[in-house]
Amino acid sequence: MKPPPFAYVTAESIEHAVAELARSDGEGKLVAGGQSLMPMLNFRLLEPSVLIDIGKIPDLTGISETGDGLSIGALTRHVDLETSHLIAQRFPVLTEAVKHVAHIAIRNRGTFGGSLCHADPAAELPMMAVLLDARICVSGQGGNRQIPADKFFLGALTTDLEEEEIVTRIDLPYLPESTGWGFEEISRRSGDFALAAAAATVSLVDGKISEVRLAVTGVDDLPLRIRAAEDALRGSELDDAVFSSASQIVRDAVNPNSDVHASADYRRHLIGVLVGRVLRSARSRARGGA
Ligand SMILES: Cc1cc2nc3c(=O)[nH]c(=O)nc-3n(C[C@H](O)[C@H](O)[C@H](O)COP(=O)(O)OP(=O)(O)OC[C@H]3O[C@@H](n4cnc5c(N)ncnc54)[C@H](O)[C@@H]3O)c2cc1C
Repeated sequence: MKPPPFAYVTAESIEHAVAELARSDGEGKLVAGGQSLMPMLNFRLLEPSVLIDIGKIPDLTGISETGDGLSIGALTRHVDLETSHLIAQRFPVLTEAVKHVAHIAIRNRGTFGGSLCHADPAAELPMMAVLLDARICVSGQGGNRQIPADKFFLGALTTDLEEEEIVTRIDLPYLPESTGWGFEEISRRSGDFALAAAAATVSLVDGKISEVRLAVTGVDDLPLRIRAAEDALRGSELDDAVFSSASQIVRDAVNPNSDVHASADYRRHLIGVLVGRVLRSARSRARGGA
């Protein structure tokens, strides 16, 4: 399989990339790691006139502390998320999730920003952005803006980005002290996209849930926070009966597809099971368990 012909430009700065996108009049595509874009070209699902390579823009790299969180450059590769001590210390749920993204060869090239912009409805990193209340920092001809993750994803392979905009950084606000977390995924083979995956964070005060977040992927057109389940859990004791009703709320909230890998009914069943598991793991970690 070969891609259609395209012109190729190496962007030297964020401004250069934005200017090239504007010049292409909607026909250009940014390329970061190329792990999703190149297959789309090879299958002729996209035929851009020009590829604008952002892989050498220094301002798009690095993981740094900002005082109230971490700021992660859009070009940060999956493998750098996986091996970062800062991320392991502050967001261990992200360290765990990224291990489930594809295989090591793909994790060596694929980028955080690329995964968010591709917006595959079964991808792990968009779910992490939604779970962790990420702010997605964007530059375009009109200036800079920040998009909350739960407003960034609009549907399968669809985001709130304008044609001339580039994601520059992803900001993750720190979680409260003594927050436990859980991540669970089922896929047909190791490295495949998720049939269904869930992640939770649980913060405790006086033995009760003071803050809880619950996110799912693979079971709708976009990654979802299930706010109704969070509302049911917040303030409750950490008992299995509450977790069961949260699982049922999630099953009722999602709208999975049937495909060659699994039926919609199976995915709906699965997500309830995974939600129970991530809540129990998060409870155990919030109480100081391993
Ligand atoms: C065999 C295989 C298995 C995979 N399995 C998984 C999996 O299990 N889970 C998973 O989550 N992913 C999986 N992936 C996808 C992989 O994670 C990709 O790396 C990722 O989705 C895209 O990142 P990238 O940097 O390669 O982006 P690219 O392919 O370069 O770009 C993807 C899209 O994002 C746009 N883009 C890239 N960067 C920016 C930016 N900074 N600003 C604006 N737009 C931008 C591009 O224009 C393009 O439209 C798999 C890929 C392959 C080939």
